[in-house]
Amino acid sequence: MVASSVVITGAASGIGRACVELFAARGFGVVAVDLDEAGLSALIGRPASEQVVPLVGDVSREETGTAMAQLALDRFGRLDVAVLNAGIGGTLPWEDADAIDRLDRILAVNVRGVAIGIRSVVPAMRAGGGGAIVVTASSAGLQGEPGNWAYNASKAAVINMVRAAALDHAAQRIRINAVAPGLSETPLTARHRTEPESTAAVGRRIPMQRWGQAREHAAAIWFLASPEASYITGTTLVADGGLTAH
Ligand code: NAD
Repeated sequence: MVASSVVITGAASGIGRACVELFAARGFGVVAVDLDEAGLSALIGRPASEQVVPLVGDVSREETGTAMAQLALDRFGRLDVAVLNAGIGGTLPWEDADAIDRLDRILAVNVRGVAIGIRSVVPAMRAGGGGAIVVTASSAGLQGEPGNWAYNASKAAVINMVRAAALDHAAQRIRINAVAPGLSETPLTARHRTEPESTAAVGRRIPMQRWGQAREHAAAIWFLASPEASYITGTTLVADGGLTAH
C-alpha cells in the first residue's frame, strides 16, 4: 500500500507525464487521467507497475471527475494530491467561422475541467483530513498575446478561480494553488517549433534565453503539492524563465 496518492490529469504527455514520473518516483500511487488512451498505455510500466493506474476520460465531463477520485480511493485507499493539468491551446483568428465553438471547447477543458476536478477531489481529501490541489495555469493567463485571446481568457480565469477556491477550502486543510509555465518544449507547442531556427528565435525572447522543460514545471508543481508549501494557498507560482517579469 502506498503512503500517498495523486490524481494527475493530462497525464499522457508533456508536463502531466513529467508529473507522473516525479510523483511515482517519490512513492505516490498515481491515477493518470487523459483522453489519449494510446499515450496512457505507453506511460504505464515506465515508472513502476501497479503504482500508476490509467483512466481514459475527458476532464470536461463530470463522470471523469467522479471516476478519478473513486479510482484513487479504490486502488490506494486515500487521495492526497490532485494535479489538474489537462489543457488545450491554439491561436484563434477572430474572423474564423468556428471561433466561438473553439472558444467553448477551450473554456470547457481549461476552466470547466478544473472546476469539475476541484469539486470531484475535495470530498475524498476532506475525509482524509486535508490535501493539496495544483492547477496548471499559464503565463498566458497573466498577459495578452496576439491571436491567443481564448487561451489567454481561459488561463486568467483559472488563476482567479484558484484564489477563490483556496478561500473556500482553507478551513478544510485543502491548499489550492496554480503554476504558470511560460513557453515549454512539449507537444502542445510543437507547431511553434517546426524548425530549430524558430525555436531558437523564440528562446531568445525569453530572458533566460531558452524554453522551459516539462520536468522543470513538474518540479514547481511538486513543491506546491508538498508539505514544504504547507502555508501556501491561493497563489500562482510563475515558472517562465522571466518571460512575464518585465
Ligand atoms: P500536452 O499537449 O503535451 O499535454 C496535454 C495533455 O492533456 C495531452 O496528453 C492531452 O491528451 C490531454 N488532454 C487534452 N484535453 C483533455 C481532456 N479534455 N481531458 C483529458 N485530457 C486531455 O501539453 P502540455 O504542454 O504538457 O500542457 C499541460 C498544461 O500546461 C496545459 O494546461 C497547458 O495549457 C499548460 N501550459 C503549457 C505550456 C507550454 O508551453 N507547453 C505553457 C503554459 C501552460
